Amino acid sequence: QKEDEYIENLKTKIDEYDPKITKAKFFKDLPISDPTLKGLRESSFIKLTEIQADSIPVSLQGHDVLAAAKTGSGKTLAFLVPVIEKLYREKWTEFDGLGALIISPTRELAMQIYEVLTKIGSHTSFSAGLVIGGKDVKFELERISRINILIGTPGRILQHLDQAVGLNTSNLQMLVLDEADRCLDMGFKKTLDAIVSTLSPSRQTLLFSATQSQSVADLARLSLTDYKTVGTHDVM
Ligand code: ADP
Ligand code: MG
Repeated sequence: QKEDEYIENLKTKIDEYDPKITKAKFFKDLPISDPTLKGLRESSFIKLTEIQADSIPVSLQGHDVLAAAKTGSGKTLAFLVPVIEKLYREKWTEFDGLGALIISPTRELAMQIYEVLTKIGSHTSFSAGLVIGGKDVKFELERISRINILIGTPGRILQHLDQAVGLNTSNLQMLVLDEADRCLDMGFKKTLDAIVSTLSPSRQTLLFSATQSQSVADLARLSLTDYKTVGTHDVM
């Protein structure tokens, strides 16, 4: 009951948050839950970077987001915080299965995201997993059914989606396409389109990119619904 009240309160704060009036400087200024704030603080994440301040409130409000900001600007937390908060507010448990899917172009980047997630998520109860190839599909499959937040490379995720059993996306709340420009440069356009086409349209999608281009805009049109653009507003 107490948790329900707390979550309702949080939702009200999110609805009332007006980025035009409030420009948050610190994570604690945002309508995010105590376990997440604690995880952030313990990882020494106190102050928001610009892309975090601009995009996190919009993502928390449930919008699809196309965010562009240069490498090193803090895009990882800009999507991980909304992912964790979404599942927290839904009171996600291991029995609810896959709640969020995060796609990253390379194994190294996927592993970095996983590491940040386990650090800032240390006070939440979600399970996280990596599918990046290298390990055998069967080994990954055994663990995959219990994973709430899955991080992976495009090819490997599609491989799991194509399996008859295993990855069940029917409950999916959030899709994150990270480093979308790089995914496209690496030739993953068709793979991304195929992944997106298998997912429920009711999900929320966050698309992050270091640069803006026509191909990123095309991907956004295909994968996002009524989206808000955040970050550098030139080009497109
Ligand atoms: P991007 O994905 O935009 O290239 P990252 O998310 O990888 O950037 O972050 C770049 C670096 O900045 C990382 O070392 C990360 O730990 C650090 N960082 C990100 N956000 C913050 C923050 N709010 N406060 C302090 N350091 C941060
Ligand atoms: Mg990044």
